[in-house]
Amino acid sequence: QTLPAFLAAMVQRQPGHPALVSRHQDRRYSYAQLQQAARQLASALLGLGLQKGDRIGIWSHNNAEWVLMQIATAQVGLVLVNINPAYRTAELEYALNKVGCQALVTMARFKTSDYLGMLRELGPAKLPQLRHTVWIDEAGRGEEQPGMLRFSELLARGNPDDPRLDAIAATLAPTDAINIQFTSGTTGFPKGATLTHRNILNNGFFIGEAMKLTPADRLCIPVPLYHCFGMVLGNLACLTHGSTIVYPNDAFDPLAVLETVQAERCTGLHGVPTMFIAELDHPRFREFDLSSLRTGIMAGSPCPIEVMKRVVSEMHMGEVTIAYGMTETSPVSCQSSTDTPLDRRVSTVGQVQPHLEVKIVDPATGETLATGERGELCTRGYSVMLGYWEDAEKTGEAIDGEGWMHTGDLATMDDEGYVNIVGRIKDMVIRGGENIYPREIEEFLYRMPQVQDVQVVGVPDRKYGEELCAWIIRKPGQALGEEDVRAFCSGQIAHYKIPRYIHFVDAFPMTVTGKIQKFRIRDAMKSELG
Ligand code: ATP
Ligand code: MG
Repeated sequence: QTLPAFLAAMVQRQPGHPALVSRHQDRRYSYAQLQQAARQLASALLGLGLQKGDRIGIWSHNNAEWVLMQIATAQVGLVLVNINPAYRTAELEYALNKVGCQALVTMARFKTSDYLGMLRELGPAKLPQLRHTVWIDEAGRGEEQPGMLRFSELLARGNPDDPRLDAIAATLAPTDAINIQFTSGTTGFPKGATLTHRNILNNGFFIGEAMKLTPADRLCIPVPLYHCFGMVLGNLACLTHGSTIVYPNDAFDPLAVLETVQAERCTGLHGVPTMFIAELDHPRFREFDLSSLRTGIMAGSPCPIEVMKRVVSEMHMGEVTIAYGMTETSPVSCQSSTDTPLDRRVSTVGQVQPHLEVKIVDPATGETLATGERGELCTRGYSVMLGYWEDAEKTGEAIDGEGWMHTGDLATMDDEGYVNIVGRIKDMVIRGGENIYPREIEEFLYRMPQVQDVQVVGVPDRKYGEELCAWIIRKPGQALGEEDVRAFCSGQIAHYKIPRYIHFVDAFPMTVTGKIQKFRIRDAMKSELG
């Protein structure tokens, strides 16, 4: 099926049921209203002269317009290009030109960022293919922008009963591209993965199944929509199950999340580990009634067991699950379900999703390894992207001749098929011939009560090849020194696993998806150590 076909069936079933609550915009849509607005927008996009297969970008934080764009573009076969709102001119220029975007929908400003100003700075000379710029005007507010179109004005031009909408939708195939998503840029420059209706619609559906979503569920989505976490694990898991999407805010803010869960009686909450940590450690955490919560997904980077346990006991999320995946695979390939026993659910990323395959191979030889052994995780099935947009070379490096996607992640699988992510191949540290997995040290240091968050990386060393370095964020008001950390490790973990360098910091370098960019920590250490 395609997204418009699936949604039409859902609207038939429950037209008046709430589909979307955008708290910060104070807007609410039922399923019928959401579809009606998306059809009107789709008709307006055709009015701009855009045709099936054309690329249109969205460069915005979370809002109702975002999901309208997601549905509208799918309706008429346009390819939505998710652009990170943290991008600045050079990255924007690269992304828009890389995939040949003819139109772009963006915010006018956000805090100190002037989005339209950045676009003017680039101008037609640097963005030769971009023909239309649309800016989201909250309720018609904001000054006129010469040469640029207001979202409300664009929408007003469309007709939800435009006969072209169903005519085009009928020509769409599940294998048509629906979306180009850029990877997070955790390990370097983001790559644009081309995904189809079949890829992400199925993935969203099975994610919702694992969480046992029903129309009674209201899912709080503080993760960014520009990333697959928000758009697939959030929006599509909800829309395929008739559940309600709830956006607490445009960009992540732990207080807005706590307020929203309480006020909207949310039953689910998504987040990367750092988001859950910020919510749990918020000074006002105890003031909020979060008893409506039942489930949610933690994913995106290694999920510390201690954080999972606190989410279960302090946020009442007894049915929280962990998911593992990557943008290139729509994204999820492994997930625990709410039925997975709790100890497995907090300590593993679950089992392979239905209709997908996973194997663990020796990265050097490509041989499949026995259960329990560490190797690279590979996955195959409906979820694997078409490829990186117009980059056959990179696609060929990632997907082999048999259709296996090589993830670059190290993992183990046990006899029952539960998968554990050990870390990224690129992050593994080799110190004096010993393989060290930073994840293991992070889990260990995380047990210190004074530690709020910790990251461990390898830094070059003349004698050992690499040495370990830990960056630690202390909990507010907690005293902790290097010697305390060493004393905590001493006798508990092997001497070579005790970090040689220990730094206390206030924050880690992060992508807007909330992922920690270890390569920047390594770079900072390299320049410090000379
Ligand atoms: P880039 O590819 O641009 O460097 P990225 O790999 O972070 O960035 P994404 O596609 O957003 O881009 O993230 C996928 C990666 O996130 C996975 O390959 C894996 O390393 C990590 N990841 C995702 N979920 C989990 C999880 N549950 N546990 C551990 N790691 C995870
Ligand atoms: Mg990646």
